[in-house]
Amino acid sequence: MISEVNKDGGVASQEIENIFNDILERVKVLDPANARKWFDKLTIYRLDGGSLKIGCPDEVTVRFLQDNCKTSFTHAAQQVTGHLVTVDFNLDGDRKTDKGSRFFSNGLRLHPDYTFDNFVVGPCNRLAHASCIAVSQSPGNTYNPLFVYGGSGLGKTHLLHAVCFEAQRKFENLVIQFLSCEEFVNRFIRAIEEGNLPSFQNQFRTVDTLIIDDVQFLREREQSQEEFFHTFNALYNSGKQIILSADCAPGQIPSLEARLTSRFNWGLVTRIDSPSYETRVAIVKKKAHLRGIEISDAIAEYIARKVHANIRELEGALTAIYAISMTSQRKIDLELAQIAIEGQISIQEKHISITDIIEVVTSHFDVRLADLQSKKRSQSITEPRQICMFLARNLTKHSLEEIGGHLGGRDHTTVMHACNKIAQAQEDNPEMKALLEDLTKKITNPISI
Ligand code: ADP
Ligand code: MG
Repeated sequence: MISEVNKDGGVASQEIENIFNDILERVKVLDPANARKWFDKLTIYRLDGGSLKIGCPDEVTVRFLQDNCKTSFTHAAQQVTGHLVTVDFNLDGDRKTDKGSRFFSNGLRLHPDYTFDNFVVGPCNRLAHASCIAVSQSPGNTYNPLFVYGGSGLGKTHLLHAVCFEAQRKFENLVIQFLSCEEFVNRFIRAIEEGNLPSFQNQFRTVDTLIIDDVQFLREREQSQEEFFHTFNALYNSGKQIILSADCAPGQIPSLEARLTSRFNWGLVTRIDSPSYETRVAIVKKKAHLRGIEISDAIAEYIARKVHANIRELEGALTAIYAISMTSQRKIDLELAQIAIEGQISIQEKHISITDIIEVVTSHFDVRLADLQSKKRSQSITEPRQICMFLARNLTKHSLEEIGGHLGGRDHTTVMHACNKIAQAQEDNPEMKALLEDLTKKITNPISI
């Protein structure tokens, strides 16, 4: 039964609190990659017939959950209540005017976990970390520009978000513009198309701090480089802070104009290296803590020994372990960690392609690729098509768009819907679970076919 509760009107009933706790537990199973310990701080604000309103402590959390977790919360709420429920995240009523809340978003899309507090400092990133702190404490006055570079998954984006949080906390009125270089280029192109160039220029040239992530994206984009050059000059000449990140040093970005390379070198250029074993252990522990996962030192050390490519993969390993433990209701021990990580490593090493997946699925269901790519919507075609999408999402690094492209040019929302549907079926139906395991085995280990 669903009753109504409104936090403004009093304390939520025990029954409602219990339902909400069940929903949070469900989210951990449905979405182990996003589940966080701080979900405990969310409050149930209202639950009536068709809608669940969840209260969040700050704006950044509202945006983050809205963008990343709406689907998993919706599914969880529907499973727990047995009703079609829509989910909304709101700023907690009690905190609307509370200046003490953790974060102000000011329209920026930031990840609530990417703070300095959650960043583990080691020899690989000490200088980058220290310079980001210095710049956030005194924008425009220390290193300008600050250029942070390093391989993928080593913490560049994390540090840039942390600068935004810290600078906003310290200087409430500071105008920060933070975006990926890809977005900068896309907005620039749109401004040209719409004849809006002056307003685009105004948007970027009047800020106090401009932070652009992944500037290697400027390569070979001549007109964007020209525009960026003028943006850079306008800000630099008026003493505004510029912070950039890239996957390589300024001089190594292919076909970047010399005048940009030289400007990027004017301030401080700092590199992030791959973390040492000790730093990896510390990061695994920090991440486990953030997610509310209890692991022993021995397990943290095991993960750090096995996974060394980058920190994103370290987190992937932790998610895999957590996911298995949640779905099988097993305590995390060394054996479980081994199963999860061996599985991950074999998948990474095998470079599975969508074609491998399609081959195994079409042969199992005895359908043709052309059928999967067609507009046919009979169950006998839709199910294998959705299974292909689900497996491609889980076993390859392709984006939703790319997966949709292989299966008849379907858009990313169709692929996402398919993935959710099969994930749900896997939960509800042991036969589907067994089938997916069997198909995965055949794809990852073709010799056993
Ligand atoms: P990049 O932008 O360099 O590709 P990210 O900043 O996206 O990498 O980092 C990938 C993941 O690794 C993020 O979840 C981030 O929080 C985590 N991470 C990277 N470095 C650290 C660190 N030193 N301490 C804690 N987490 C880290
Ligand atoms: Mg990044």
